[in-house]
Amino acid sequence: MRFTKITASIGPNCEDKKTLTNMIKAGVNVCRLNFSHDTGEIQGAKIDMIRSIAADLNKPVAIMVDIQGPKHRIGDFETENHYPLKIGQKFILDSDTTPGNEHRVCLPDADVMKSLSVGDRVLLNDGKIELKVDAVFDDKIETTVVRGDEIWSRRGFNLPDTDVDTDILTEKDKKDLEYAITKKPDYVALSFVQSAEDVADVRDFIMMRSSHPVKLIAKIERPNAVERITDIATAADGIMIARGDLAVEVPFEQVPAISRHIIRECRKLNRPVIMATQMLSSMVHSEFPTRAEISDVANASYLRTDSTMTSEETTIGDNPVNVIETMDKILSYADKDAIENPFDWSRIDNVPENDWSRSVSSMAYLNKAVAIVVFARDTDIATQISCRRPDIPIIAVCGDETTASQLCLLRGVFPICDDYLFGQRDAFGAVRKFGIGFGKLVIVDDDKISLRTID
Ligand code: PGA
Repeated sequence: MRFTKITASIGPNCEDKKTLTNMIKAGVNVCRLNFSHDTGEIQGAKIDMIRSIAADLNKPVAIMVDIQGPKHRIGDFETENHYPLKIGQKFILDSDTTPGNEHRVCLPDADVMKSLSVGDRVLLNDGKIELKVDAVFDDKIETTVVRGDEIWSRRGFNLPDTDVDTDILTEKDKKDLEYAITKKPDYVALSFVQSAEDVADVRDFIMMRSSHPVKLIAKIERPNAVERITDIATAADGIMIARGDLAVEVPFEQVPAISRHIIRECRKLNRPVIMATQMLSSMVHSEFPTRAEISDVANASYLRTDSTMTSEETTIGDNPVNVIETMDKILSYADKDAIENPFDWSRIDNVPENDWSRSVSSMAYLNKAVAIVVFARDTDIATQISCRRPDIPIIAVCGDETTASQLCLLRGVFPICDDYLFGQRDAFGAVRKFGIGFGKLVIVDDDKISLRTID
């Protein structure tokens, strides 16, 4: 049994039924659909296909819709599509919509223009270009090039020093989300979250349109979001460590430390956490991962992450099924090793000793239980126990499909949707489905916690 879950980004190279089926068979627990690319009914058809495959395989799979968010872009250039920017030269970002040249380009977003201050950095090309703001006017920003490279039309940029006063949902996002919620996704991931209010705004937007209990994942990719992680994680239902943009916006050497900090906070607050981006990126074309990638995936397991995530390696990779098999192999081995050779710190938890979920975990540990069985009316109880990381399977017997698929993301939680087992409170029947035939079980049914032995 693998405890660390796999979230797979779905794209052009894995959208056919055969590949998706084989990926799910190989271990995908959550399918992520990125609305930065396809939108509307094209994504809707993929959601339907994933659900029908999951039903055929009798395997719960969660659907995560990823909303593009306020990604900022510069405007177009004149005849040449790109220009070289040299260190020390002046460059202007302005509100003039005519095509740019080596001296200036349009900054179409008025919210960005009014949020920038003298001294702020503007990063383009994944940080290869750095502009420093010298002066701010109503209709233009004067900058100096600190790091130079080719500048291209309509490239996205990052503003690590700026709290951008902008709505979390663009007009495109609102349209995408309005459509997406009609498909009842399990999770909606929000890009470029800056505060707990951003999460609350999206929750309000969804609640005004749907009663489906969709969970919100805040993507952490900005320094101000890192600073506010406790508030953001409290407002959201889970966190994604979006290392791609994060490593542009903060000094890259800080990303591992930030990741550890976020995982620790999320465990304390009972929120699942996803480690994302470039986990197996060499496998876009290579059959085998690099040594560093193997360690990165394994370390995500050792850090007790809920889920790792694939990006281009599955969306545009040569062999997405091989990617999932590889990730499954690395995680399974690391999960097993972490349990057999634990570090003391793995059990250290910041929740109070009298917290009931900690008592469940300790009871399981002290009695050498082989599994915890939870009768899950919703995701709360199983989530809290999972965040204590008890290192034995948490079998969640669910009475409805949404609870079962949402629990797919959580570390060590194995959901089954079975009316009979749920209605009968049949813990023994549930564990047998996972091949567990003897040993002690901790059973959690609402506020009743009991210990039973199967032999
Ligand atoms: P993206 O987010 O795939 O939406 O860019 C991931 C990241 O920035 O790491």
